[in-house]
Amino acid sequence: MSIAENIARIEAEIAPKAQLIAVTKTKPVAMLMEAYKAGFKRYGENKVQEMVTKYEQMPKDIEWHLIGHLQTNKVKYIAPFVGMIHSIDSLKLLEEVNKQAAKCERVIDCLLQIFIAQEETKFGLSEEEAVALLQSAAFDGLQNVRIVGLMGMASNTDDATQVRQEFKNLKRFFDKLSSMPTHRAVQLTEISMGMSGDYLIAVEEGSTLVRVGSAIFGAR
Ligand SMILES: *Cc1c(COP(=O)(O)O)cnc(C)c1O
Repeated sequence: MSIAENIARIEAEIAPKAQLIAVTKTKPVAMLMEAYKAGFKRYGENKVQEMVTKYEQMPKDIEWHLIGHLQTNKVKYIAPFVGMIHSIDSLKLLEEVNKQAAKCERVIDCLLQIFIAQEETKFGLSEEEAVALLQSAAFDGLQNVRIVGLMGMASNTDDATQVRQEFKNLKRFFDKLSSMPTHRAVQLTEISMGMSGDYLIAVEEGSTLVRVGSAIFGAR
């Protein structure tokens, strides 16, 4: 099937609950343009440099999602144009996003990346850390960022039961956070979870944004 057909099929599978983010890391601009010409405008990259290079070459009405780990010293390169950052994993990073967004006179939508997998991974906040961040006085002052939801990555396993449980845990935490009082009003609407191998399970468990790469563009 073509790129456009893959996108149409997946969008039909996840609608109306979730939106598709086409993950284009390592794929050439020609492939992105194929999707763009079919009318698709929401792309995810996991590396800053690759996103900037593609941003410069592509039409400017694209919504760019940064889904991979973000180093504070690289925020300035994406702040002028990024649509959403999925990988906020510290207050320090959020403070830098706020600072760079202010310079661009923008408010940048962000997700807190929550650690949900069984396996040891390097990035993500624990539930306790996420609560502490949202309740901190420092967060109150960050007027150029908006926390609009949570992101999580399930364990890299064929065990669908375990993957489903991890998504359930993220949804449960999302619901808990949504009803938790914070100093500053926070409106959580997005749950970014689900990739090529597990997006159908993710949507069943409450995902609103699925990040799908290889099922659209082929193996990397
Ligand atoms: C690569 C990547 C994806 C997409 O993975 P596929 O298995 O190709 O769909 C999703 N989320 C993140 C954070 C990624 O780095």
